[in-house]
Amino acid sequence: AGSNTFRIETTARREGEHYVIDGQKTYITGIDQCDHVLVVVRTTPVEQVEAQQLPRAYGLSLLLVPTDTPGITLHPIPMRGIEGLHQYTVFFDGCRVPAELLVGEENMGSMALFNSLNPERILASAVANGMTHWLLEQACNYARERRVFGERPIGAYQAIQHPLAECRIQLDASRLLTYRAAWAFDRDLDLATIGTYGNMAKLTAADLAIRTCDRAIETLGGAGFSEEYGVIYLWDACRLLKTAPITREMILNFIGEHVLELPRSY
Ligand SMILES: Cc1cc2nc3c(=O)[nH]c(=O)nc-3n(C[C@H](O)[C@H](O)[C@H](O)COP(=O)(O)OP(=O)(O)OC[C@H]3O[C@@H](n4cnc5c(N)ncnc54)[C@H](O)[C@@H]3O)c2cc1C
Repeated sequence: AGSNTFRIETTARREGEHYVIDGQKTYITGIDQCDHVLVVVRTTPVEQVEAQQLPRAYGLSLLLVPTDTPGITLHPIPMRGIEGLHQYTVFFDGCRVPAELLVGEENMGSMALFNSLNPERILASAVANGMTHWLLEQACNYARERRVFGERPIGAYQAIQHPLAECRIQLDASRLLTYRAAWAFDRDLDLATIGTYGNMAKLTAADLAIRTCDRAIETLGGAGFSEEYGVIYLWDACRLLKTAPITREMILNFIGEHVLELPRSY
């Protein structure tokens, strides 16, 4: 989904014992590898939700759709950022699925949706922390060996050493935020708390991965761009986690509104 989950335009209408899905989804990762896909659909139009002053979260439903259902077509989108998995625009054109594939209650899919978006953010944090860990290893291994002026390795120079040390300290902080979010999810705390912890962890971990990747490239100099060391391959992946699965701006909006209780600007 994009930044405004509540504006999802793919619809499903009930016809007897089936739902009929129409619409499209963009940047869907790895659907060619899946037997089923969890599709968020609008079952009550936004206009009706607004006119009847229903809660903003009302009107979305979840359907567990077999990917070989007639009416689904996949269009690959050439993209970077995730190694080994492709992204697709997925078209639903009069796609009929049995009503029993509804997950939870009709129109009440938002809660279940956030129960799957929160762990995705926690997982993204863990992925970012893992990349930071690996990048620091590569940078330090290189900095211990590389000698440019005399016999002292570049890792002794504080211009190289201190930024790496900072990243190492922040990695512990980032991991603790990630563990706190995972702990909250495992203990089934309320959605707002899990959302807060997951968002804080994801923003911190993604920012740190980008910073560490930059520092690792700096440490390796020209080798930072070589295929042999592989550091440059993580640049896209680190940067992606600032944008997906939720953008940095939407996390700051969430924290501003729900933690700091500041007014919403949009
Ligand atoms: C490689 C890749 C894989 C993906 N895989 C999936 C997937 O499998 N499934 C899936 O559902 N989605 C997937 N996505 C989509 C991803 O979740 C969205 O791209 C992301 O949430 C941003 O939405 P958007 O692209 O529509 O950007 P937009 O919503 O158009 O936002 C554009 C910019 O405007 C900013 N912005 C928008 N509204 C506000 C506001 N109110 N305040 C401040 N700033 C704002 C955003 O932060 C962003 O910087 C994937 C994306 C990528 C790049």
